[in-house]
Amino acid sequence: YADSAMYKSKQSGRNNFQFYTDELNQRLMERLDLEYRLRLALENEEFLLHYQPKLALVSGAICGAEALIRWQPAGESMISPASFIPIAEETGLIEDIGLWVLHEACRQAVKLNRLYGRELPIAVNVSPRQFRQSDLVSMVRSALLNSGLNPACLELEITESSLVHDTGSFIKTLQELKNLGVGLAIDDFGTGYSSMAYLKDFPVDRLKIDQVFVSNLEAEPSNIAILKAIVALGHSLNMKVIAEGVETAYQKAFLLGIGCDEMQGYHFSKPLHMDTFGKLLSDSCLKN
Ligand code: C2E
Ligand code: MG
Ligand code: MG
Ligand code: MG
Repeated sequence: YADSAMYKSKQSGRNNFQFYTDELNQRLMERLDLEYRLRLALENEEFLLHYQPKLALVSGAICGAEALIRWQPAGESMISPASFIPIAEETGLIEDIGLWVLHEACRQAVKLNRLYGRELPIAVNVSPRQFRQSDLVSMVRSALLNSGLNPACLELEITESSLVHDTGSFIKTLQELKNLGVGLAIDDFGTGYSSMAYLKDFPVDRLKIDQVFVSNLEAEPSNIAILKAIVALGHSLNMKVIAEGVETAYQKAFLLGIGCDEMQGYHFSKPLHMDTFGKLLSDSCLKN
């Protein structure tokens, strides 16, 4: 070891410190490696989108889908967005990745609409850093124009925590996006501490209840009150309310019972490859 601190720690026999430093170095190396590979992933076309259907609770019909990014490096297993989106966000790579997602989702939405003769809204996640980009609105406009997608068939999901700072300029951006004709949703609602006072000024169409309130509903009855309150709040502001992370028949029945509009979750379907999602759509068209 050339590093003198580590050398000293070794000399003084503080093995715990030595171990700790090694582990930190190891993690730092892994992270630098991930960052490096993430930079190349766009060029190498290693990203793809999966689609998770959204279900209207009363009719049981598929009423949309969320596009979720996947990273598939050649010859390796798929890497989940939970492990690379935060790094992409910190390094700024999210701006390029997010732009790719936007264009890809619009292109694929046009294909899906053509194939299945339905105008299904596709939701795209917009991260906090993307939301602060000054040219976000013009990028969304370009993605719509290039693909020819009906703006009503695109929805942007913005996490609640993006909306907490500098509310004035955020409302302006939301309004400009709304003027393009796209739908807007607040994602992970209930965990981001957006002020109730501002919520009424957000021109959004949907509240997406964070999955923490749904996933432990059976074990945590106090969530019943929270879920009811969010549904009532959303409806009183003329928003649709969708629950995510619905995994059980009990959760689905409960949400239907309290008037929640839509659901998304493993109980109905995991996020699917584009072709599998298309197959599901054509099967459900036959049924209806
Ligand atoms: P999110 O937008 O809140 O997406 C919901 C996540 O919950 C997805 O994880 C989805 O696969 C997962 N999920 C859906 N149903 C269930 C369920 O019943 N049970 C459980 N336990 N989980 C369920 P995923 O695909 O791993 O994405 C994680 C997060 O990464 C997303 O959370 C979103 O914040 C971010 N993300 C994904 N794709 C993109 C993207 O294209 N751009 C940006 N900026 N962020 C993305
Ligand atoms: Mg989302
Ligand atoms: Mg969410
Ligand atoms: Mg989330």
